[in-house]
Amino acid sequence: MKFNPADNIQDLQYFGEFGGVNPSISDSSTYTFLSAKTMFDTFEGNADGCYLYSRHSSPSNLYLGQALAAMEGTETANVAASGMGAITPVLLQLCGAGDHIVSSRTIYGGTYAFMKNFLPKLNITTSFVDITKLDVVEAAITPNTKVLYCETVSNPLLEVADIESLAKIAKKHNLKLVVDNTFSPLSVSPAKMGADVVIHSLTKFINGSSDTVGGVVCGTQEFIDALRNVNDGASMLLGPTMDSLRAASILKNLRTLHIRMKQHSHNATYLAERFEQDGLKVVYPGLESHPSHKLYKEMINPEYGFGGMMTVDVGSLDKANELMELMQHRNLGYLAVSLGFYKTLFSAPGTSTSSEIPIEEQVEMGLTDGLIRFSIGLDNDIKRTYNMMKSCMQELGIL
Ligand SMILES: *Cc1c(COP(=O)(O)O)cnc(C)c1O
Repeated sequence: MKFNPADNIQDLQYFGEFGGVNPSISDSSTYTFLSAKTMFDTFEGNADGCYLYSRHSSPSNLYLGQALAAMEGTETANVAASGMGAITPVLLQLCGAGDHIVSSRTIYGGTYAFMKNFLPKLNITTSFVDITKLDVVEAAITPNTKVLYCETVSNPLLEVADIESLAKIAKKHNLKLVVDNTFSPLSVSPAKMGADVVIHSLTKFINGSSDTVGGVVCGTQEFIDALRNVNDGASMLLGPTMDSLRAASILKNLRTLHIRMKQHSHNATYLAERFEQDGLKVVYPGLESHPSHKLYKEMINPEYGFGGMMTVDVGSLDKANELMELMQHRNLGYLAVSLGFYKTLFSAPGTSTSSEIPIEEQVEMGLTDGLIRFSIGLDNDIKRTYNMMKSCMQELGIL
């Protein structure tokens, strides 16, 4: 049977303490033990199923982690207070002083800033490469390289990483392939293609209501145990712990992720195709014109589509700003960073989410001034939205 992430989530069954249809929220930071011996064993990591202290784990966080591990097809998972709270401990767990990372150069601005500006303080260095060029990726590997890092669909340029090929390179050189799958939940299952660790910012599509930040690391039991180890686990010791109340609310939103992803994909495909026909420069992995369209089509679980993210280049930053302000005025969406909301969100990445990347590097990677990143919402009648957006563009002389 083919791996289907949404079916895997559905097959989990939880009840609350009193037979509630949702699991009970664990409203405690610490837990009692019936015997002192069990407390000792738990500290040693030898008492599965016993809770110790909520920075380590809590029932609510474990429920959410289990559901996300089911979605990604990994042994287990550890939730975190934010996406960055998932990414940074993973890198610090896998790398020590003197180690090296090979990373895609088109990644989330915060991840880029962490590798570029923060990790060198610990003598961990990163080579940023064009992840779509496998020979360039392999050539960047040194004897000190420990991690190969990429996003399935990159932020903001929507480049696609060939995860299967990258996994082969990682295996050959004994590296861990870490994949940030935030832009493509359900659509792509990186662990099934050989990724060692899969990360999400839950803040985006997975929670989907733009009311919290959250993150998750999905991986082997051994790796997640290492992250949570009381003596040297980066997640345990740095402390980016998700609150139980939030874990419970994100788990409830996860229930509708498959329905939402289908609608995001449907709407984004409609707009990308129309705007491209109208002559705009559109980047969307579902378009034949996308350089990795064929590859991505092979990679995705087709029923969830090509995702909700697209970019449109309107020529200049001034035009981009004018258009975004007008679209917001007409209530077609919000001028805001982030993604995965019911409402369309748009921003100019060069001056916002990717502003950590120096201008020269932005130019080199094709991040142009007039680029608008869209996270397409769940609009009921996307044809109506298209007509309204087109009017905005016509009024501003973009179309
Ligand atoms: C938002 C985002 C992050 C960071 O997540 P936070 O929840 O904001 O900490 C990491 N990677 C990608 C691809 C993102 O879009």
